[in-house]
Amino acid sequence: MASPMPHIEAFKLTLPDVVTGHVAGLSVLANSSATILPVHFPGTGESIASLQEDDATQVIAAVNVARERFRSGDWSKCTTTEKQSVFRAAAQAIRNNAHELALQESLCAGLPFAHLASRQIPRAAENFDFFADYIGQLAGETYDQLHDYRTVVTRQPAGVAAIFTPWNACLALSSMQIASCIAFGNSCVLKPSEFAPLAVLQLVRLLESVGLPTGVVNVVNGRGSVTGAALATAAGVDRISLTGRGDTARKVMAAAAAQLTPVHFELEGNSANIIFDDADIDRAIDGALVSAFGNSGQICIAGSRILVQQNIADRFIDAFVARTKNLQVGDPLDNRTEVGPMAFAQHQQKVLNYFALAENTDATLLTGGRAMPELGGGYFVAPTVFKVLDNNSPLCQEEIFGPVVTIQIFNEDEEAWTIANDSPFGLIGYCWTESLHRAQLFQQRLEAGTLWLNTPIARDLRAPFGGFKASGIGRDGPRHAADFFTEEKATIAALGKPPIRRMGVSRQHEDNDDGA
Ligand code: NAD
Repeated sequence: MASPMPHIEAFKLTLPDVVTGHVAGLSVLANSSATILPVHFPGTGESIASLQEDDATQVIAAVNVARERFRSGDWSKCTTTEKQSVFRAAAQAIRNNAHELALQESLCAGLPFAHLASRQIPRAAENFDFFADYIGQLAGETYDQLHDYRTVVTRQPAGVAAIFTPWNACLALSSMQIASCIAFGNSCVLKPSEFAPLAVLQLVRLLESVGLPTGVVNVVNGRGSVTGAALATAAGVDRISLTGRGDTARKVMAAAAAQLTPVHFELEGNSANIIFDDADIDRAIDGALVSAFGNSGQICIAGSRILVQQNIADRFIDAFVARTKNLQVGDPLDNRTEVGPMAFAQHQQKVLNYFALAENTDATLLTGGRAMPELGGGYFVAPTVFKVLDNNSPLCQEEIFGPVVTIQIFNEDEEAWTIANDSPFGLIGYCWTESLHRAQLFQQRLEAGTLWLNTPIARDLRAPFGGFKASGIGRDGPRHAADFFTEEKATIAALGKPPIRRMGVSRQHEDNDDGA
């Protein structure tokens, strides 16, 4: 692998000695007793930055700033036009800084730079443009069911949100949650993954540079067990949005329950990709590779359980395995790289542990199944394909979150729906067929929040996104964001002076009462 060292050395020069949180528009003062966490470049394993961990005191201070800024009305009472103008400028600022943002994200999380620059960073910009459009079209509601009364429904921002984001698409996902939250006038405290903190900090600085008042979006940094736990339990948080693992969500939900704080969770997946015998098989192979190994397999929407029909299984498996062996694994900063390293050492170990586990199951290894020390000290895992007989295998029932795919063979169509739904998760369903009947059954039968038919991974931001079962609670999407990040208020007003039932007057007047 070509050494990425020159990139890293130039990059390090742009960073302060210690990267800190960002509250009220300022770096949180470095605390001499603070824990300092190293941030590693997953491509080589070397340390590229030092991150100051924020403790409970700093987290509470950040929540207080967000609350004070919310009450000030500087953002929460802005007109739609004012908010739109900041959002559009933010989108442009992200585009103008796309190279730097992609580099920061790639150096922290090890995701291929080319993928970040061409897809995830433009998506971050699009998130702001999208919400600028959406709030410009938001309609109010009025009702007139009662004579002489009019009911008007208005929304007001919920207040202060705590937002937790993961490392696997930190900027794209953080930007979606930030845009969803502040579009409706809220403030927030964001806790990005400790493994990918840099691009998000840059995003917040960009937002402030284009007119977002400081203190509307604040960032605290550190491990989930320290900084995250402090934010989840902080008083004065009106909404909690978490994109991450189910175990984290359970802890955060317990903390939220103590204060009855509404939660929105976007969680894990291990989604089925069903390939029927009438599929366009070449497209199905292309699509299966993208959905299994895109983002180096570290993606919640991965089609990591392939179910292929018996009579095309040999042809599909031979071609799929051959293409998997041919994937370009390596330096995430090299534009030819298709699969980068795992994001950090413990995560690489977690993926490798599944290979050891698979040895005690009925799984047959078709390719991969090993680390790649020949690529240096980075956290690489060879793209891996298992043939599996039993869907109860942990390879099928748990989220591995790496470049690992299982293939199961089915005979009758009915088996495909059953195996696909036999999962604790319900995030995505993929299906490849030319049959209208099968396509309709897929739409009706699959227990998942998003279904992709004859395509890998395409999003319309107007549509809801989220999971059935253990894949989440609530949905991303504009209507759902409006519901989650605002409080609705119904105001019923008399038109003119309709009669009012008169109480406390002497009985002889009772006959005049209207009974309303
Ligand atoms: P994670 O749950 O470990 O962490 C997510 C965030 O929560 C991080 O900021 C982390 O520091 C914080 N956190 C961890 N423990 C915490 C605690 N006890 N209290 C409060 N905060 C805590 O997830 P991850 O490993 O960073 O991300 C990968 C996971 O995210 C995968 O399971 C993936 O499927 C999921 N994900 C889901 C979606 C989706 O849209 N459904 C999108 C991307 C990733």
